[in-house]
Amino acid sequence: MQLSAKIHVCLVMDKGRDFQACAIRLGEDEYCIMIWLAAAIRTSASISRILSTSVSAEFFSADFPVSKNQLTSPMGDTFEAYAALSLLPILDLGTKLNEFRNQLDSTALEWLVLHELGHIVNGHLALGKTVNGVTYILEYDLEADRNENITHQALEMDADCFANLFCVQGALTRRLSIDQIDTGDEGKRVEKRLQSYVFAVLAIIRGFDHAPFEIETLFDSDHPPGGVRMGYLLAQMLVMEKEGKIDFGGVNVKEATGKTAVSLERAISEATGIDGNGGNLLAAFAIGDSFLAPVLSRWAKVYPELNAAKISPFKLAPPQYEPA
Ligand SMILES: [Zn+2]
Repeated sequence: MQLSAKIHVCLVMDKGRDFQACAIRLGEDEYCIMIWLAAAIRTSASISRILSTSVSAEFFSADFPVSKNQLTSPMGDTFEAYAALSLLPILDLGTKLNEFRNQLDSTALEWLVLHELGHIVNGHLALGKTVNGVTYILEYDLEADRNENITHQALEMDADCFANLFCVQGALTRRLSIDQIDTGDEGKRVEKRLQSYVFAVLAIIRGFDHAPFEIETLFDSDHPPGGVRMGYLLAQMLVMEKEGKIDFGGVNVKEATGKTAVSLERAISEATGIDGNGGNLLAAFAIGDSFLAPVLSRWAKVYPELNAAKISPFKLAPPQYEPA
């Protein structure tokens, strides 16, 4: 990326196994990406468990060992249940399919690291918090100030899109252990790679939410709800396709990614034994202007400041709304 800054990556061990990551400015041209090991371990566990379902076996045309209703105690909703699933041991899927699971884990973590890198190179630390001379953007820093939250949600959407743009390009050309080498159908292979990428990224984002999505509490957090982030990332891929930024090899991106989101929800329902009916996801996907107008207007407002602070050689996403 032709960056002249020094960027460290630091792993954090946390006894509480809280799911976390953050971006830090240490000083002039020196930054750090912190990733909690729990993020890696819990993501591996949940991916192994949602792959162990008949939904995933059918979706990936792979022989996953099926293990329904994996939780022993009753849970209130699919969010609580999905979090509980990630604290269980990683399931053994057999040699070949463990390799596939590893590939999905790496994809999810690559996305997480690039999300943090996006905070750094796109200048977000200009709007970060400074404590004892160190400026940071912490994932899940609860704030009561809705105005501050809207700014931070705009930064989160930008970091998500930064990661998506880089990760999807790599994912489409990377060979998967479940690739059908003998079919000779390149389109099918690219479709499966795209779907595997989307499945892994949505699996990690889905883990960021602790409760069902509610429109009234949308700006009570400094992070947008996972479902809203998922919907925006899928929409970004459609834009990439339309603008010809990325070669999707003729794959129907809308259909392929939409099916993946639905399959992920169904796999979570099967693994947890709780039927969420995907209603939460549909509500988040359909939210539209009540989220986009305030958040993207805020993006337009902070755009000049971010442009002055960014260290990436790439242009920031152009504002789509009037500044507010
Ligand atoms: Zn972030």
